[in-house]
Amino acid sequence: MKYNPVQNYINGKFVDATTDKTLDVISPLDGTRLSTVPLSSSDDLNKAVKAAKEAFPKWSKTPIKERVQVFFRYKYLLEKNLDELAALISEENGKTIGESVAEIEKCIELTEFACSLPQLVTGELLEVSKGIECRTERIPLGVVASIVPFNFPAMVPNWTIPNAIALGNCMIIKPSEKVPLTLTRIATLLKEAGLPDGVFNIVNGNSEIATAICAHPDIEAVTFVGSTKVAKIVYQTATYNFKQCLALGGAKNHLIVLPDAKPEMTAQNITASMSGCAGQRCMAASAMVAVGDVDHIINKICEEAKKVVPGKNLGAVISKQSKERIEQYITEAEQQGAKILVDGRGATVEGKENGTYVGPTVIDFVKPEMSVAKEEIFGPVISIMRTNSLEEAVAIENNNPYGNAASVFTQNGSYARFVIDKASAGMIGVNVGVPVPREPFSFGGWNESKFGSGDITGKSSIEFFTRLKKSTIKWNPEAGTNWMS
Ligand code: NAD
Repeated sequence: MKYNPVQNYINGKFVDATTDKTLDVISPLDGTRLSTVPLSSSDDLNKAVKAAKEAFPKWSKTPIKERVQVFFRYKYLLEKNLDELAALISEENGKTIGESVAEIEKCIELTEFACSLPQLVTGELLEVSKGIECRTERIPLGVVASIVPFNFPAMVPNWTIPNAIALGNCMIIKPSEKVPLTLTRIATLLKEAGLPDGVFNIVNGNSEIATAICAHPDIEAVTFVGSTKVAKIVYQTATYNFKQCLALGGAKNHLIVLPDAKPEMTAQNITASMSGCAGQRCMAASAMVAVGDVDHIINKICEEAKKVVPGKNLGAVISKQSKERIEQYITEAEQQGAKILVDGRGATVEGKENGTYVGPTVIDFVKPEMSVAKEEIFGPVISIMRTNSLEEAVAIENNNPYGNAASVFTQNGSYARFVIDKASAGMIGVNVGVPVPREPFSFGGWNESKFGSGDITGKSSIEFFTRLKKSTIKWNPEAGTNWMS
């Protein structure tokens, strides 16, 4: 085993969980057993919540300008340790080093936003009638929790860590049991940045501890990022227990390609979107809707896809089960009459035979009713459906139950506007394959890709992680008393 067993991080210290149940942490790159992760009990969660609750009065009363100083230092530490963090992400998640570097760069951007929060949470004040003012303040919630997925071991946790904590909350995070190592390292960086003990805590485990988080009486709010099936369970359990909850789910992102699209740029963007992070991004291109004759672009996509080589510029998928599931989708589409233009099944990497690789896969002549058209595959696979009109293409996009992202590739502004207006998704791209809004704009989908109101990052996160206190103030008796005062 390459690393020591993973421990929980409670009240500023790494501690063993109270159970001896563990899971192995396996590198998808080559099957190496990296570590073990404990399946914590509710006793462990109780300890973490107690620590967070005790840290809250002092941390929440620390002025925000002082709180964000921790994140200025944390940003510097992310920069300083970028290579080491990227190597760790790659090792436990399977993505390439380049993708892992980009993930930490995104964490830096998220932290920069948190550093700007004092400029954004100033509250409001108005003299509402003579001598009487109304004032609003943003008050932190208390103990908040985040439950995160495997596909971004650093970025998704950093969607919430800097903002929630800078806004004055104390936090519990449950990493994905598949990738717990990066967050362990992040805990040490937060401590080095000067975050007081108890403000940030990690409790490792699987669904059992996630369920305990959703029911814990001292946790005020829960964010979840993961599959739609689990997002629904978490949202229902957390809100049933009267918690504020925002649960982001899975996706099936449609890219609409028109004949006037720039072939080279379109093919490069679509290939990068479907194969980046081995297709394990909730913003990945998964379905392409070809409008009219775009064969010249499809040919170029195939050329580009063939340049994406497992183990070189394409990482591994998370597990053996994932590889099997993805390959099964491809086989089923083939059996149902779709045409496999580029086939990623059976990919192996020399010297890494225990790695779990799937090559880029382009499937043409997919029908909307096939599973590859409807379901989230979460692998480097794009399913192409053919249509004759933009209206028909948008109807296909609208019919899918998810709503994270949709993109259009065209040189025509009115076609682009049509898609922006009609697509049923929270994040739209025009000639962009992965339309992730960058800070200060917020991240969040629609429909079955998100449950709860608001978005998880950017200015929207201020709403989620604070509540408004409204004061009506009168100091001068001469203001008098009437029914409005
Ligand atoms: P997952 O839903 O299997 O697991 C996510 C988290 O939930 C993990 O921490 C896991 O331990 C926990 N969990 C699992 N079962 C649970 C249960 N029954 N009750 C409570 N918690 C449970 O997701 P994953 O496989 O880790 O991640 C991939 C999924 O995440 C994909 O569907 C992807 O689209 C989605 N995702 C969405 C976004 C977004 O912004 N919408 C971002 C990243 C990933």
